Amino acid sequence: MKEALPPPKFVKSSLLALALLASSCDNNDEAPIPVPDRILLVVTDATHAAHLSCYGDENGLTPAIDELASNGVRFSRAFSNNTWTLSSTASLFTGQLQEHHGAVTNHHRLDEGADTAAEFFEKAGWKTAAFVQMAYASAQFGFDQGFETFRYYSKGQDGRAGQTIPQALEWLNENRGEKWFVYLHLRRPHSPYKPTPPAITRLDEGCPLADGSRNEEFMFADSFGDRVLTEEERAHVEHLYQANLARTDTVLADVFELAKEQEAVIVVTSDHGEGLGEHGSFGHGTHLWAESIDIPLVFWWPTANPLEVRHPASTIDVLPTLLDIANLPSRDRMSMDGSSLYQRLLVRVALENKPVIASARYSLENHPRVAVIQNDWKLIRDPEGKVQLFNREEDPRDEIDRSAEQPELVSALSLVAAEWQVENRDVARSGVLHDGLDKELESDLEALGYFENDDSE
Ligand SMILES: [Zn+2]
Repeated sequence: MKEALPPPKFVKSSLLALALLASSCDNNDEAPIPVPDRILLVVTDATHAAHLSCYGDENGLTPAIDELASNGVRFSRAFSNNTWTLSSTASLFTGQLQEHHGAVTNHHRLDEGADTAAEFFEKAGWKTAAFVQMAYASAQFGFDQGFETFRYYSKGQDGRAGQTIPQALEWLNENRGEKWFVYLHLRRPHSPYKPTPPAITRLDEGCPLADGSRNEEFMFADSFGDRVLTEEERAHVEHLYQANLARTDTVLADVFELAKEQEAVIVVTSDHGEGLGEHGSFGHGTHLWAESIDIPLVFWWPTANPLEVRHPASTIDVLPTLLDIANLPSRDRMSMDGSSLYQRLLVRVALENKPVIASARYSLENHPRVAVIQNDWKLIRDPEGKVQLFNREEDPRDEIDRSAEQPELVSALSLVAAEWQVENRDVARSGVLHDGLDKELESDLEALGYFENDDSE
């Protein structure tokens, strides 16, 4: 952990002007959130929010998360600022955009000097534990900072994936009555989209590919890129992905129950979404359409009043919000790009509407697409300057490009995106590189098939 840095250059003049366009307030006087002794932060990897029932899906795949959402606070427009695990988890842990934390390619790691969520809680005397199934969120990439207990699950390392939930439950049981901050990062619904009954049986009803004869191929559809599938094939890929999500929700139910018993604050989110051919592209990383960055964001606490918040929120806002909920000192927050959502959890005041910035995956050679989201509008600018504009209120899936109708808005938002791209052109050259990975992690990264024989997690 390092001393507080000066504020980042995030609020440039054009950004500030946008922020001032929209601010309002109401005076609803809600009781504050009782300061908790326990916080559970859950990430289900690669979860496009639209597949959850609480975000409008009709397949009923996520009853455990839906239950939290219906009794807690759900951000209906929550965005990941990034499109893949490493950079996004670093944003979640630091409250910083990837251009500021610097973990932007698979050569990078989270800087040892970063101020992370676990370090804030550890410093305040809380017990800290992490149970992580994704290689890009593991200790070798710097994510164990501040965790007294950090378990990464792959074959041969600290047990198999199937032990993740039992070990998390055991830890929660053993630490009853303690102050704790627990991070649980589940691989599913990320590929392999391994078909899990009974969800797959139900989803596949009447599907020509229900016999599973091509499941081996479709389980890794996230690597298909722009491959063109028939509608039947695409639908089957979606079923496999959704069954994976249903499995995640099932295993989470016991964790939520135990956390609720201990009156923890529970937060559920994802690190990015997943393309399933909605715009002709599969997987995640390079695009910024709805399927890539629309994520769930749900806060639950024992006395929460159910609420849907329509104000845009993003991954970088989670840490400052948690610090406010836990009433931890704010001195070290200067380096964060995110803003606390605390007041929004209570409907008290609608604060300044800061635009959300999201950017896709960097490489050492290229800077990526950037999205700027302001109220109902979302602009995506690619590195060559081509833009698309979507109205999120009328078109939540980003299907109709409205850029030709809104020249002034396009020019304002595009200016923000273009400045961001220019300013951060060389960011991949300045981040902290990792020192090399051990063979085991290398093989986990090469093939996310490492959960293949593990059906119990
Ligand atoms: Zn991920």
